[in-house]
Amino acid sequence: MDIGTKSAKTKTMHAAVVQEFGKPLTMMEWAIPVPGPGQILVKTEACGVCHTDLHAAHGDWPIKPSLPFIPGHEAIGIVVGLGAGVTIVKEGDRVGVPWLYSACGHCEHCLSAWETVCAEAQFGGYTKNGGFAEYILADPNYVAHIPKGLDPKAAAPLICAGLTSYKGIKETKAKPGDWIAISGVGGLGHLAIQYAKAMGLQVCAVDIDDGKLAHAKKLGADFLVNAKDGDAAAAVAEGTHGGAHGVLITAPSLIAFKQGVGMTRKRGTCVLVGLPPGEFPVPLFDVVANCITIRGSFVGTRQDMAEALAFAAAGKVKVDFELQPLSAINDVFDRLEHGKVPSRVVLDYSHA
Ligand code: NAD
Ligand code: ZN
Ligand code: ZN
Repeated sequence: MDIGTKSAKTKTMHAAVVQEFGKPLTMMEWAIPVPGPGQILVKTEACGVCHTDLHAAHGDWPIKPSLPFIPGHEAIGIVVGLGAGVTIVKEGDRVGVPWLYSACGHCEHCLSAWETVCAEAQFGGYTKNGGFAEYILADPNYVAHIPKGLDPKAAAPLICAGLTSYKGIKETKAKPGDWIAISGVGGLGHLAIQYAKAMGLQVCAVDIDDGKLAHAKKLGADFLVNAKDGDAAAAVAEGTHGGAHGVLITAPSLIAFKQGVGMTRKRGTCVLVGLPPGEFPVPLFDVVANCITIRGSFVGTRQDMAEALAFAAAGKVKVDFELQPLSAINDVFDRLEHGKVPSRVVLDYSHA
């Protein structure tokens, strides 16, 4: 981890830093990192705030980042510095710096284009400093290449929320015409609805907030379920005539996981994407007797990223976002924790 120690001559940047788990982030001056061999330096234009950043800052998961660290894995910016040997990007390129910061490139998973589960993978804004800062170091082999015509502020949430929801939908194996139930219509879910519609699926949107459900309807959801109103699984089964062929759970709430398994049609697939800490009970008899697949899905590969961005470049998926300055991060986290962010907040560095 590159700790931002300062000397008299070091150039500094503004960064929002987690110094202690569960405590507000500290706005501080941090040394602008210098790209080493094989690295690039990216000047941040925009960075989305993902619920994962909140889990990271709370130290929610079994593997914790080392303190202090700079969160943020939905950054887009311009390449402003190249370390020795870098040839695949050049200064001036616009790139996204994702959660999958790097991987080994030669293990069985990397070789089969599953670099997301590489044991040596590094994670942006977690094991490597991320985009809640004016500059970020990145590995040029793993950055996203932002198609021309996409505005960085409007595209930043695609770098995680878009990618993860697109990949998660693919992992349900639902086919055009099938039903997909999307549980959680926040940063990930509002994009999942649009990807699913663009992929020819019928969408049942599930949330506990009527405002989010009203938004889901505007985005094209065919059927809405408020999980607070009674038996959500039964409501989905009724609306989809037997359960959804695919279920995508983005809700950061354990109760949504048990419900999601119950929403799955016989022989259907329930994809787990939300990451609230803890475990959930699996109704074993139902899963076995109905031949249901329960599958985890973790962000997406570089190829998934290119595909997810292409949907947006073609105008089929549009991020709903609210701009905030980096200095507002603690307020943004507070709202995100309490379900008060309508879709996605994007930190705007255009005045930095
Ligand atoms: P978000 O806060 O923007 O959205 C969460 C949504 O879930 C909100 O609309 C909220 O109202 C809704 N919700 C809460 N409880 C619910 C319930 N019981 N039933 C239905 N809906 C409910 O969060 P986000 O940024 O979309 O992230 C969601 C989760 O996905 C987080 O846990 C995050 O860490 C995880 N995530 C996982 C991956 C991955 O690779 N698997 C990638 C990104 C994010
Ligand atoms: Zn590997
Ligand atoms: Zn994320």
